[in-house]
Amino acid sequence: RIGTAALAVQVVGSNWPKPHYTLLVTGLCRFQILQLLKEKPYPVAEVQQLDRLEQFTNGHKSEEELGELSEQFYKYAVQLVEMLDMSVPAVAKLRRLLDNLPREALPDILTSIIRTTNQEKLQILDAVRLEERFKMTIPLLVRQIEGLKLLQKTRKSKQDDDKRVVAIRPNRRITHGSITEDEEEEEDHDDVVMLEKKIRTSSMSEQALKVCLKEIKRLKKMPQSMPEYALTRNYLELMVELPWNKSTKDRLEIRAARIVLDNDHYAMEKLKKRVLEYLAVRQLKNNLKGPILCFVGPPGVGKTSVGRSIAKTLGREFHRIALGGVCDQSDIRGHRRTYVGSMPGRIINGLKTVGVNNPVFLLDEVDKLAKSLQGDPAAALLEVLDPEQNHSFTDHYLNVAFDLSQVLFIATANTTATIPPALLDRMEVIQVPGYTQEEKIEIAHRHLIPKQLELHGLTPQQIQIPQVTTLGIITRYTREAGVRALDRKLGAICRAVAVKVAEGQHKEAKPDRAEVGEGEDCKEHITEDAKPESISDTADLALPPEMPILIDFHALKDILGPPMYDMEVSERLNQPGVAIGLAWTPLGGEIMFVEASRMDGEGQLTLTGQLGDVMKESAHLAISWLRSNAKRYQLTNASGSFDLLDNTDIHLHFPAGAVTKDGPSAGVTIVTCLASLFSGRLVCSDVAMTGEITLRGLVLPVGGIKDKVLAAHRAGLKRIIIPQRNEKDLEEIAAHVRQDLTFVLAACLDEVLNAAFDGGFAVKARLEHFNSKL
Ligand code: ADP
Repeated sequence: RIGTAALAVQVVGSNWPKPHYTLLVTGLCRFQILQLLKEKPYPVAEVQQLDRLEQFTNGHKSEEELGELSEQFYKYAVQLVEMLDMSVPAVAKLRRLLDNLPREALPDILTSIIRTTNQEKLQILDAVRLEERFKMTIPLLVRQIEGLKLLQKTRKSKQDDDKRVVAIRPNRRITHGSITEDEEEEEDHDDVVMLEKKIRTSSMSEQALKVCLKEIKRLKKMPQSMPEYALTRNYLELMVELPWNKSTKDRLEIRAARIVLDNDHYAMEKLKKRVLEYLAVRQLKNNLKGPILCFVGPPGVGKTSVGRSIAKTLGREFHRIALGGVCDQSDIRGHRRTYVGSMPGRIINGLKTVGVNNPVFLLDEVDKLAKSLQGDPAAALLEVLDPEQNHSFTDHYLNVAFDLSQVLFIATANTTATIPPALLDRMEVIQVPGYTQEEKIEIAHRHLIPKQLELHGLTPQQIQIPQVTTLGIITRYTREAGVRALDRKLGAICRAVAVKVAEGQHKEAKPDRAEVGEGEDCKEHITEDAKPESISDTADLALPPEMPILIDFHALKDILGPPMYDMEVSERLNQPGVAIGLAWTPLGGEIMFVEASRMDGEGQLTLTGQLGDVMKESAHLAISWLRSNAKRYQLTNASGSFDLLDNTDIHLHFPAGAVTKDGPSAGVTIVTCLASLFSGRLVCSDVAMTGEITLRGLVLPVGGIKDKVLAAHRAGLKRIIIPQRNEKDLEEIAAHVRQDLTFVLAACLDEVLNAAFDGGFAVKARLEHFNSKL
């Protein structure tokens, strides 16, 4: 019931890699518990202070007696300390303390320093009377001195130069199989010895070995209670775990690689071709120096999964490092080891995770690195990716060089626009465009559906998804360039079917319940209509489902809800002042409506829909061009005047107002939309267009044609107006898509308007200014 009152001075520690906290306290005095007031959540008690220094000096007799005792104690203590290595600063300090501290305090201090069991320490604590305390501590000192003598004798004979204090310990008692504290300490000590052994046997670089040995020397001298102890130990453990020399053997065989790539991925011919070239060069040259591949394309087109396939073909470990939102360069390069909670960067962590020094690292989303006050992570990546430098990559945490030259880096991004130029320069960009509907159907049936079936424990005998259903999902439930949403929808279908199948199994086990409802004849007639497979049909639930469950449009609606996207195009184009443009976003191509309306006013132009500066300028350009050509095209305002803005305000709106839009390619669409507004004619409902305009009415080329065309194709449009100088981009588009579409190549706005309106757009006088006047 006796304890020590103490003051907490410091709490340090971290939760990484495992929770380890150190509490630094200053002991104040002994106290005794008089009454326990409560135990939870922490004990509270009434206590009485026991140590009072005046008390010790009271009474002459005891002082004399004590004087002898304390003198004896002091002698032993000095003898013990002098047997230790005085060159260690802590020992020298202890020696000084013996002289400076009041004698009464010595028994407590020395008991805490010399090797004693917990039990013995408690006994000393319980000895409230000073005399008793001295008497009890002296034998412990003597024991320690004897132990040291013995040890020094054996040491000498072994010529061991290690002067550490190792004390003999009393016989350990292991009570009821539980580990005493003593044993724990020994374990820790053993751990350090093991660690040293591991360091010596590991294959780390010479420089690293030197650093580690120095650290382990420090660790041995450090009391475990020091916060640095945990830090140093974590550091050394990491150093031992790192794959300094461990690698997997490459098995590079181009023919096998081609098969793996083809098996894992449908379509993406250009990407696969480039990857094979890359691997072939690696095989011939037998090293990995070369450009870093960077796959750029919309989400869900398989960039990550191609990276994984490359690792598979090479027989290497694969590790993905997500860089999206990383804004601190220590994320890449690690924190310096000077503060608590420091840790290595993601590269070194990745190497530790995979356990070999030649993995494939996929740097995901390099376009989403951000800059902040904590430095520029892109700059740190430069060092990682540069083959000239990365053989001696120095993580701040490790503080020694690690060779990254065997690591194969692959990067992915949605757009190159936001990749810092210096980083982009180190990489070879391979565009991965979105998929056509046909490609998506193939991908779904070859890869996604089998994968989802396996994930949900279903077999093709239980569920059947015909191609028309897949097409329905693609067109009516998803609108994306990749296949990720499609994959999710297929997952949802599999889940719903899994419930049905599991219920069916349950019912089959109890056939008597199957007779409810309209019944048994349903079991016999397996028809292809919606009946047996409409999942939400309650009468149906009473029956074991007919296998395979066919997913048709009714079932789709039951599982996925009403279609999310309608073929709304024609509906929206049924009044003048609407046109369809094509836009490119990092997520792939999209169709974009442009709406215009006019009202009485003072010639103002209002633009809404989150537009960037370039887009606003395009709108101004379009209006200027139309105003200057109003007569030629017979465009009038509401009161019949050719001055289009006379007493008229114009409002242009780009729906999906939450998405920021910018870029010059909407120019032709704005012109067409306004021409429709002022002429009162409807734009053809199946036409989409893209192109930049000039003040003189020329149409300039724009980027992202392939993605835009795919988007138009997805939306069911038939005719696409593109700038003439973009003709070369059409070659990249799959033949079957091209077959479905008519392309109009326009060099000037005349041609655009003619193609956009049924029956052309009448021009009063032919344009002359394209012909040379010379
Ligand atoms: P990204 O990294 O481009 O965002 P992922 O690589 O994560 O996309 O791909 C998403 C999913 O789509 C993966 O399950 C992948 O297997 C599948 N996938 C994408 N493209 C194809 C393809 N051409 N063939 C087979 N599966 C594909």
